[in-house]
Amino acid sequence: MTVQVDIQTFPLFINGKWEPATGGETFDVHNPATGELVAKAAKASVEDVDKAVQAARDAFDKSDWKYMSPKDRSKVLNAIAHGIATNAEELVYLESISSGGTVRRIASNDILQMVDLFNTMAKFVLEYPFSETLPSPPFPGPAHNFVWREPIGVCAAITPWNMPMLIATWKIAPALAMGNTVVIKPASYTPLSTLKLAEIISQFVPSGVINVVTGAGAEVGEALVRHSKVDKVAFTGSTEVGRNIMSIASGTIKNTTLELGGKSPNIILEDADLDIAVPGSLFGVFLHSGQLCESGTRLFVPDKLYDQVVERLIALAETLKPGNPLDQQTEIGPVISRKQKETILSYIELGKQEGATLVCGGKEMTVSGCEGGHFIEPTIFTNVTNDMKIAREEIFGPVLSVIRYSDVEEAIAMANDSIYGLAAGIWTRDVNKAYAAARKLQAGIIWINDWHMLRNDAPFGGYKQSGIGREMGKHSLDAYTQLKHVHTSMVPELHKRSWYQILFSDSVQS
Ligand code: NAD
Repeated sequence: MTVQVDIQTFPLFINGKWEPATGGETFDVHNPATGELVAKAAKASVEDVDKAVQAARDAFDKSDWKYMSPKDRSKVLNAIAHGIATNAEELVYLESISSGGTVRRIASNDILQMVDLFNTMAKFVLEYPFSETLPSPPFPGPAHNFVWREPIGVCAAITPWNMPMLIATWKIAPALAMGNTVVIKPASYTPLSTLKLAEIISQFVPSGVINVVTGAGAEVGEALVRHSKVDKVAFTGSTEVGRNIMSIASGTIKNTTLELGGKSPNIILEDADLDIAVPGSLFGVFLHSGQLCESGTRLFVPDKLYDQVVERLIALAETLKPGNPLDQQTEIGPVISRKQKETILSYIELGKQEGATLVCGGKEMTVSGCEGGHFIEPTIFTNVTNDMKIAREEIFGPVLSVIRYSDVEEAIAMANDSIYGLAAGIWTRDVNKAYAAARKLQAGIIWINDWHMLRNDAPFGGYKQSGIGREMGKHSLDAYTQLKHVHTSMVPELHKRSWYQILFSDSVQS
């Protein structure tokens, strides 16, 4: 018997309404854990991008959204937080079946972080210095001066597939908090949760404030970045695409923030508590099968501890339970796609060719009940040197490179020898050593005796080619505002305006 299962088609979300793509085209969304088709999504055209941008433009230019008081805006943000919490079950499900993230992680971390982010922004908005009065200036003359922080306008948000829903909120929450409007383009692997999120948000904001266009990056993403009515681009994704976006955005001098790739160094010092450092380092690299931008993929271990640490890493890595991410017991889910699996496997092959020693994993896995899925064993290489490609390039999979060092300064120099600078970590019992290393490490976030700990009131972003700008924290609000200086003269008498004499030597002196 053939069972006919209805596959839901997710339209675009434009101006508060669900809309099919203009050409009626759709694309398939597959579950990376099973390979099954789970939904279809509308394939937006450049015309659809125009429609979404125009809706966001009108909502910004023609509604009072941007003038809403901080008190009312704070209530909106709290209401969105509540809306996310109320719809958590559906959001977790949609996120898991398209990104392959385990419900164990999404339900216990991502959703809580999203709710907390909107609540945090609701609090920040009440304290934000939307208008600052400057002291009377000594130069050029008596005046009353304000600095106002105003929204930028229409913000295009472009997001990756690894944590699509959470990363979407890192852009949407501060954008709305500051009175902007948004058009978001999720990655084509993972459009579902972002569409649902937009529907939830739309209940609390005027039509057109939040819009979603789904489709290919090269078409829909680029059209957004090029669009003359888009004022800002907030991108999270690979450094390669980020570079392209930066260059396209230069055509219209767009305000651009970029959250890009990483190859984050993790240093175990000789005095580290290995009972925490070993599980912590594996948590740092194998969470979400290594598909996190700030994963600690390069582990630096001192000579003295090398064999012991490697032995303990392998023993623990081998206990990780793969499975269907919808199963609460699953610890290791799939990677996003067949293509990504092949890329990761080719890096593992390359590691062997480069002379690194494969000591754990290294193969694709077949998981019972998920035979069509894209699973890779947690993989550990030892005898890696920092100049090997597996230590220099972002693999974005469950692959750890363990690199030997003899003194801390050498470890820090190798840690910093990378084009990336997203995160770095140190494991030690000596806080003075930790802070000394933290000062020297070139990264936007430093974890001491921990990993993956992001807070909504602290900035997140990269040094070097890991990005420009910061998300989360009060700093993220600045990224969605522009400054306006308002000068009011306090000198009513013409003859006292000495600075006019620069142009009029006699005629205005009477
Ligand atoms: P990607 O760069 O391939 O795609 C990201 C987004 O950009 C997708 O929505 C894609 O459709 C779109 N896109 C692709 N080409 C485009 C173009 N020419 N113009 C405009 N948009 C385009 O990245 P990915 O494979 O989805 O995600 C993995 C990457 O994201 C990794 O490099 C990872 O490090 C990075 N990442 C960074 C952070 C961070 O906060 N720094 C967080 C998560 C992921």
